[in-house]
Amino acid sequence: MPPTDPAPTPALRRPVSALWKVGPERAAQFARLGIHTIEDLLLHQPRRYEDRRQFRAIRELRQGDACLVRGAVVAMGVKTYRQGAKSIFELILDDGSARLHCRWWNQPFMEKYFTVGQEVFAFGKVKESKPRTVDHPETEAVVPGEEENIHLNRIAPVYPLTEGLPQRWLRVLIWRTLELYEREFVEPWPELAARITPVLPPRANAVRMLHFPAALADADLARRRLALDEFIALQRDLRARRRRFHERAEALPCRGDNRLVRPFLAQLGFTLTAAQTRVLREIRQDLGGAHPMRRLLQGDVGSGKTAVAACAALMALESGFNVALMAPTEILAEQHYRNFRGWLEPLGVGVELQTGSRKTSEDGGSGREAGTAPLPSLLPPPSSPPSTALCIGTHALLTGSFALENLGLVIIDEQHKFGVSQREQLVRKGRYPHLLVMTATPIPRTLGLTLYGDLDLSVIDELPPGRGRVRTFVRDAAKLPKVWEFLRDQLASGRQAYLVYPRVEDTAGGATKAVLKEFEIVKAALAPHRVALLHGRLAAREKESVMAAFRANTTQALLATSLIEVGVDVPNATLMVIENAEQFGLAQLHQLRGRIGRGAHESYCILISDAANPESRARLQVLEETTDGFRIAEADLLQRGPGELLGQQQSGLPAFRFGDLRQDFDLIKQAKELAAGLPLLP
Ligand code: ADP
Ligand code: MG
Repeated sequence: MPPTDPAPTPALRRPVSALWKVGPERAAQFARLGIHTIEDLLLHQPRRYEDRRQFRAIRELRQGDACLVRGAVVAMGVKTYRQGAKSIFELILDDGSARLHCRWWNQPFMEKYFTVGQEVFAFGKVKESKPRTVDHPETEAVVPGEEENIHLNRIAPVYPLTEGLPQRWLRVLIWRTLELYEREFVEPWPELAARITPVLPPRANAVRMLHFPAALADADLARRRLALDEFIALQRDLRARRRRFHERAEALPCRGDNRLVRPFLAQLGFTLTAAQTRVLREIRQDLGGAHPMRRLLQGDVGSGKTAVAACAALMALESGFNVALMAPTEILAEQHYRNFRGWLEPLGVGVELQTGSRKTSEDGGSGREAGTAPLPSLLPPPSSPPSTALCIGTHALLTGSFALENLGLVIIDEQHKFGVSQREQLVRKGRYPHLLVMTATPIPRTLGLTLYGDLDLSVIDELPPGRGRVRTFVRDAAKLPKVWEFLRDQLASGRQAYLVYPRVEDTAGGATKAVLKEFEIVKAALAPHRVALLHGRLAAREKESVMAAFRANTTQALLATSLIEVGVDVPNATLMVIENAEQFGLAQLHQLRGRIGRGAHESYCILISDAANPESRARLQVLEETTDGFRIAEADLLQRGPGELLGQQQSGLPAFRFGDLRQDFDLIKQAKELAAGLPLLP
């Protein structure tokens, strides 16, 4: 994870315990908030701000209003009920215009924080209007006196806290610490100041404005400045990393001579799209370049990345190098294995498979149909002429026992299913091989510039011609009988279907559909059409035979978990029903939907969601409206954040305090331009 802070001065790196009034107990509380140094403290971002210069009159409050009021406690008390098992503490505030009831459920200890006659601020949402009531408001005592200018008559910061750490105390500490340390926040990039400060405040001012803004808009300016610094630091590090890589790594000459690519394209059965051709040109240039290729190939589901990968592999093979291709699931590795063998073996190129359960180079051909000639071994005996090969596999390629000599090119399919470290692990199997990573999760531009900032980007922005349309519908479970009827019609007319459920086994007490439980029901409902079951707990062999039967149209419907999300390619399957669709992310649903619409027939994706929650219905509607993977990914990023969009596997997402990948595209772009003007780090 790259550091995202510009280097702080030594004074800012002192521990918080160096501050007056911060003893071991406070330091431990701060540690729980991730605050260790004085810099951490001064970059502790307020959760929100309270404008304590103007208050709503209690009399004007309506139900549902979020409000900040200032009033005096006129009465308070705890009531208990259910033999003292439950309690309610109520406090009545009066601001001269009306009274506001504040209630805390089952927190009788709240009583000791207040006294009648005391003045307090209360922030919360009006729940009832007769009488005006707020449940669990955030409160703070009004204490006029020497610290008045810190808490009162200004926009006051409200910080995230931890148990035992009082809001007012923290505000005073930050105020005092700012007085002493604000000037330590020197401009981290003096050479850029002339371009930054006309728009955004200097860093030191930004830190002050973050805590004590003169206007609410200032708090936003402050955040943007601090976020910009993080993005510049990241871009600076990415540039340095890239330069070090270029200095160290010499590229293997892998551009080939077309003697395999030409016959491959001739027998492929289709012409590459303009986008595929353009991307291949970019790849060929890299493979013949001075530095090893580090390229991300991004193309929506079904855009034909596999054929591009095959051409890239052939270029390296033509040049006398071996190639490794890694896929995230055994099903996908097997599918690639089958395709690539069909394509490459006629050209005299060996294709090997290495998954957790199969290894064609050692088991003497158990992975092959009987009767085919044995493939050349990856490590030929010294006497035989060297032969090159493509080795396809899953994570099994990462194990220590797997070795591939003379590795020229590493291809990683569906790379978002792997972590950055796994990518590096495979690359390290060779001496700076070229790297092509492919993904169908369209990466919103913000992430492209941060997470993948050290990769060059190629985009296939065009689908092959002759694809049937995919139409998407969001339906609630009450419509299921109709959906089933439609499904049977489709199967009767010769099409095939995927039925996707979130789980393998029913653990949530029936609310979430699980494939094991529904299998018998679905089988009966779709007879005489045949249904098969596919999920991650099947042995690899079983998975492959289930897929083979589905591909051969021996089974017409596949009841599956999201296991089929990546890569599976069966053009006759035109219908997909996804149950409990609200449990999937948008990008994931888009991937799933990418399994259909691969042939000439019109396809249908039906998302079943019984979520009573209208928000989750609205969320799914994005999929009804568009099949543009980029728009969907942007929506997913906004709704769920980068971690979810990229999946659990994705490590290497930089940690930002202020940067927000959901909204800071402009800053990230600007940071990239600015960082280009910085001297290179050693
Ligand atoms: P993805 O980019 O999702 O990996 P695939 O490589 O699996 O897509 O390709 C999807 C389907 O489109 C495959 O059946 C493939 O053979 C076919 N295909 C790829 N390129 C073309 C093309 N230029 N013209 C027609 N069909 C193509
Ligand atoms: Mg693919």
